[in-house]
Amino acid sequence: MSELLKYQSCPYCDRIVEDNEANWTEDEEEVTCDSCRKAYRVRAEYTFEGFEVTRLCGSCDSELLDDEGTETNVCEDREA
Ligand SMILES: [Zn+2]
Ligand SMILES: [Zn+2]
Repeated sequence: MSELLKYQSCPYCDRIVEDNEANWTEDEEEVTCDSCRKAYRVRAEYTFEGFEVTRLCGSCDSELLDDEGTETNVCEDREA
């Protein structure tokens, strides 16, 4: 696939597909255009920006963050 589009649109007649019918996954989908009845293939391309990892409390599964949003090793939800 060459140029990336902001909307899923037919490469023959440029008909734009509604957002709720567009293929937002990275798996290729074969689509027949509602307007010109020609087939085309579409998939979404995502740029990998990295992993976000957060510590979790082993006993209650809450995120281990203090009031400033900094990671800690101590669960603040734990009953005193
Ligand atoms: Zn079309
Ligand atoms: Zn906890």
